[in-house]
Amino acid sequence: ILGELETLKDEQSETKDGYCVPIAANIELPNEIVSIDRFGAQGIGLFRTEFLFQKKQLPDEETQIQVYSEAADQCGGNEVVIRTLDLGGDKCSAGIRVDQEANPFLGWRAIRFCLGSVKLFKVQLRAILRAAAGRNIAMMYPMISCVSEVLEANTLLEECRQELKSEGLPCADRIKIGVLIEVPSAALTVDLIAPHVDFFSIGTNDLIQYTLAIDRVNEKVAHLYRPTHASVIRLIHQVVQTGQQYRIPVMVCGQTAASPELAPLLIGLGVNRLSISPPSVPMIKDVIRNLHYSDCRRLAEDALRMSSSEDIAAECRALLKKTS
Ligand code: PEP
Ligand code: MG
Repeated sequence: ILGELETLKDEQSETKDGYCVPIAANIELPNEIVSIDRFGAQGIGLFRTEFLFQKKQLPDEETQIQVYSEAADQCGGNEVVIRTLDLGGDKCSAGIRVDQEANPFLGWRAIRFCLGSVKLFKVQLRAILRAAAGRNIAMMYPMISCVSEVLEANTLLEECRQELKSEGLPCADRIKIGVLIEVPSAALTVDLIAPHVDFFSIGTNDLIQYTLAIDRVNEKVAHLYRPTHASVIRLIHQVVQTGQQYRIPVMVCGQTAASPELAPLLIGLGVNRLSISPPSVPMIKDVIRNLHYSDCRRLAEDALRMSSSEDIAAECRALLKKTS
């Protein structure tokens, strides 16, 4: 079946009634980048950088510049969104020793760790700015939970740009900045964050975990992990509405976007772009090409009115069945 689906690689990701929803790739390791072309993804919507920090030896600026530049060059002009280090929770590093925490998912994670490790963070920011000179590179901050974190990170980024300029090193004058919306407090105050960023990327893996208080890696509570919970749908709706108000594109880079049943719901809610693992791209593109955007809108409107996550999931399944 995959062979058949791969023939879709050069086809547009658009619905039967002409509504376009580009699909980008989530990349965890650079050797996956070759599969972007094979599966027909449009650039990288989430370039995870944790792999760089897996070795005992932390990556210096030059090493990082090379990795980011090569990724962008391999994408042939399509956008590459680099996520700054998302350490902690389920992601660890051999080179960085952090104290054991009772609640690592609620602890010194991601942007919190980076803002507390300015030296290390600035190496990454400088590398991104330098790689972005003349390349289509954007960046985003993980696990933002309040606007002040965005401001602090942006201030450091500006500091890095000034330093690079005074050192006479080429760097991007302007880089698109995004924020991962994956903590409910960010989703609920997205209007306060909007003036300081260029795009939102909803990380549903964490957003669902934090909204429903369900550990995403604990099998005992896996049955309670519900992407169609009314709270999750309302939060996504709110982010999209605010994005439209501020003319900020909203993408989804969590697993939800790779589900053939749930992708139509996200599209109906008004999400502009999806980012998923490369092998999932042909399947989701096929789903989109068999959909009517009007049906997605209706599904989203119904879902926003419904109370039971099972009923919403059933309606998602029904739409998929109707289209396939
Ligand atoms: C997410 O949280 O949805 C996400 C895309 O990031 P990660 O799975 O790497 O935390
Ligand atoms: Mg996440």
